[in-house]
Amino acid sequence: MLEIINRGYVYRAAPISQEVEMYLRQCFGADRKIYNLHVAHLYDYLEKNNYQIGDKLPSLKKMGMPTVSVFKKQSVSEDNVAYLYLVDAFASNEAKQHFNKAITAFNKIAYKKQYKKSALKRQKTLGIKPTFRDLKGMPKFHSRKGSKSSYTTFNQNGNIYMKDDILYLPSAQKSSVKVVGLKLNTHRSLPQDSKIKNVTVTMNTKGQFDVSICVEFPLEIASIGTPARILGLDYSQSHFFVDNEGKKANYPHYYRKMKERLAKEQRILSRRKKGSKRWEKQRLVVSRLQLKVASQRKDWLHKKAYALAKRYDMIVVENLDLRAIGQNKKYAKNQQDNGFGDFRLYLKYKLAQRGKYFIKAPKDFASTQLCSTCGHKNTVLKGNVNIREWDCPSCGNQHDRDINAAFNLKQYGENYSKKEILPQTVVV
Ligand SMILES: [Zn+2]
Repeated sequence: MLEIINRGYVYRAAPISQEVEMYLRQCFGADRKIYNLHVAHLYDYLEKNNYQIGDKLPSLKKMGMPTVSVFKKQSVSEDNVAYLYLVDAFASNEAKQHFNKAITAFNKIAYKKQYKKSALKRQKTLGIKPTFRDLKGMPKFHSRKGSKSSYTTFNQNGNIYMKDDILYLPSAQKSSVKVVGLKLNTHRSLPQDSKIKNVTVTMNTKGQFDVSICVEFPLEIASIGTPARILGLDYSQSHFFVDNEGKKANYPHYYRKMKERLAKEQRILSRRKKGSKRWEKQRLVVSRLQLKVASQRKDWLHKKAYALAKRYDMIVVENLDLRAIGQNKKYAKNQQDNGFGDFRLYLKYKLAQRGKYFIKAPKDFASTQLCSTCGHKNTVLKGNVNIREWDCPSCGNQHDRDINAAFNLKQYGENYSKKEILPQTVVV
């Protein structure tokens, strides 16, 4: 069956000239400027309308948010920010979309009334009462320093294209920069016949550029039919996962390994004068370490998922609420570190691409509590993660907690593939 696949590809990139780099920086500036105008309007509205902590934020319409073009006109006439008209219009328009997303995200957690740690600390030491601006998740001003910059643009009638490893992006009609090109470090080329949908250009704190290219491409996927090799994977705090054969993932805890080094560099940073040259230099050292950990982790996850998707026809995992685990303080560190959520996603699409199956067992399937021999449900195990081994009170069989759970997941997959008619391509 011919499927249309959507996928993102990230490449390190370098602007082909100084002018192009300037142009891109102005695009980032436009994104930031328009976003910040939205935030300023929001804060102003909340102050005037006596916003109560815990309330949801109003819609853009309700708070009388000016349109992007009004914001542009104002900025150009009042603050003389002429470049807003000299850059890709998408940069400004997308800022509004991002702001809208930030509002939606905040409204989901507004009821929690959580303040940022820094604000609570300030209250404790200086007695300054936190305001709505200090709420966790509240849209905040984007600063030029200390964080990455980005803007997104969309392909219209082929004005985004690749040629000889150079990615060409649209310019603005009034801009003096006619050709906006970035030389890509293409370690992996785009799939055949792919159409570029949109591109996000990012500049990290080191001043390096990355492009994330979203493409759409057709792929012929032949279903493998009835799956023969089925694997159950049980999520494990310490081993990442344990499979039904008792094999452990042996996740190298990159973050933990780097922790001491990172802590040391961060201590040095905290001793330096904020904003000074030496501080700036040290900040780069810290962010380089953090980036390194992140890329090591991602690389490992991809390789592991690839190996499993190649070997097995169907992989069954539990439908775990990873966010709930992340919020549990005891586990939060591990959870942050290992990214099981990303791993599931990689598995899913790597299997799908081969016409294979990825299954999440339903939430009410008690993979941990069921005895994989006789099916007895041992509720003693519920919520009690300290029991690593147990004997079934019904049939007497001895179980390793994780392997037993993984085995149940495998069985779930086996039953599923017998009972249900598997769709041509993939189960999600
Ligand atoms: Zn039993």
